[in-house]
Amino acid sequence: MTVENHRTDFDAIVVGAGFAGVTAARELRARGRRVLLLEARDRLGGRTWTDTFAGQQIELGGAWVHWSQPHIWTELTRYGVPVVEDAFPERIVLPTEGEQRSYELIDAYVRITELLNKVFEGTELHFPRPHDPLHHADQLGAFDALSLQDRLDQLDLTPDEITWISGLLATELGGSTERGAFSMLAQWWALGMLNQRGYYSIVSLRPRTGMTGLLEKMVEDNPPEIRLDSPVTSIDDHGDGVTVTTRSGERFTARTAVVAVPTNMWRTIDFPAGLPNAHAAVAATGLGVPHGSKLWLHLRGDLDNFMAQGPQGAPLSVLFPHSELGDGRLMIAFSVDPELDLGSFAAVEKAVQLLEPKAELVDYRVQDWGRDEFSQGGWGNRPPRHLTTVHRELQQPHGRLTFASGDIADGWAGCIDGAVESGLKAAHQSAALLNTRA
Ligand SMILES: Cc1cc2nc3c(=O)[nH]c(=O)nc-3n(C[C@H](O)[C@H](O)[C@H](O)COP(=O)(O)OP(=O)(O)OC[C@H]3O[C@@H](n4cnc5c(N)ncnc54)[C@H](O)[C@@H]3O)c2cc1C
Repeated sequence: MTVENHRTDFDAIVVGAGFAGVTAARELRARGRRVLLLEARDRLGGRTWTDTFAGQQIELGGAWVHWSQPHIWTELTRYGVPVVEDAFPERIVLPTEGEQRSYELIDAYVRITELLNKVFEGTELHFPRPHDPLHHADQLGAFDALSLQDRLDQLDLTPDEITWISGLLATELGGSTERGAFSMLAQWWALGMLNQRGYYSIVSLRPRTGMTGLLEKMVEDNPPEIRLDSPVTSIDDHGDGVTVTTRSGERFTARTAVVAVPTNMWRTIDFPAGLPNAHAAVAATGLGVPHGSKLWLHLRGDLDNFMAQGPQGAPLSVLFPHSELGDGRLMIAFSVDPELDLGSFAAVEKAVQLLEPKAELVDYRVQDWGRDEFSQGGWGNRPPRHLTTVHRELQQPHGRLTFASGDIADGWAGCIDGAVESGLKAAHQSAALLNTRA
């Protein structure tokens, strides 16, 4: 490996150009700092990625935003980006008594609302200020230890109710009611104003420019120096500054670094000066769900405007409507099933037909974030006991390093809003480090 370059003229190096890293870079540039943004991929955006399929703008990762999400909504306002709304289904197919059964939207809505109210009853006591999840830390211990399964076991639910609720919520936890903290879902419920409308309103609006278009506006505002195709292999904090090395052997030095890669990538980077215990423990697994794929499906057949939810463990968890095409419909699906062969047209069509037997697959596009080299997982999701043990420590600077990621945010962790929040905070911390002598 040859050392081709050695640049020393930066105040801060931001590693990773998703919403967290781009926010941190912009904020440091706005403070007049010299910033280098190093990104492993050949594009910006990380777990957001706007592209086209079947003649439509599509989002292969994070897509939906809402005005209840203050940080990302501010970005939309700042850059004058309007939102568009995805199609709302007229009926919902839900797993009932071992089969997929169709319900009028209003009937399903009423029953699901009752069910979610039961599951999340008492949430306001644990998260009275949902953007500050540790506000009642002293009362969170036992609650934060619960999985969704533990919570369901506390309730008197019918078998169908259990099938519905576990199908609905297990996807967010990465595929199983046993995985992920119930407290994370409860915090989202609190952030969504403690009701079903608020909870699900976060899956309907998206920026007209696409997420990538919004991100580009943030970058153009006050551009840092950007290097794409530059996977970072080592971040060395030597006390009076940092040296960042890329896979090709390039080395860059600066007074601080913002680590803005997904937590699932922390384990792939060498930190010769070591990481604090909390970071080292989380780095072993990361917080991103291990399998999280998003599919765009061009479907044909006798199909109306519907949404379908599978039972927990279904190869495709859910089908959302997106738009009508000349010869069918464009629908969005999520999969958290490691067994589904996403490269097989036949396997994907069979998985679709488990949710809606009349659907014929014409074509599809998929992004498998679990197998993606630079995310190695999907959206962030805390495990039980994480919030009350290591959460706060992960947000603290360590030496000349600060940490930014949607995975470790206080408010909408696991969301784009959380990435912006985390980027803002890390930039503030880095600025403070730059204002003190190393
Ligand atoms: C399928 C899916 C659907 C989602 N849907 C939504 C949604 O609708 N709404 C919502 O709010 N959120 C959603 N999310 C979550 C949201 O996308 C993420 O929380 C958010 O984008 C994370 O931003 P980030 O900047 O923290 O991380 P990332 O976007 O992952 O950015 C990190 C960057 O670091 C780079 N990187 C990694 N390793 C290295 C390295 N060694 N050197 C240099 N660079 C490196 C990566 O390439 C990446 O660009 C979804 C996520 C997925 C996967």
